[in-house]
Amino acid sequence: MITSTVRHAPGLFTATDRCDRCGARAQVRIGLLQGELQFCGHHVRRHWAALKLAALWFEHNGPF
Ligand SMILES: [Zn+2]
Repeated sequence: MITSTVRHAPGLFTATDRCDRCGARAQVRIGLLQGELQFCGHHVRRHWAALKLAALWFEHNGPF
């Protein structure tokens, strides 16, 4: 069983951190076994059901 870690880390993301799907400003970084992904709020909500099962940890910039 995977225990996910959620960290609220304001200021963690900068303007150069972009969503891996659409290029919008990233708000969430997700750690997977294969590496890391970054998503905007829109895409993390769209993929949340799958991401929450696969993720080892999350870092986010605020509510999403
Ligand atoms: Zn996006």
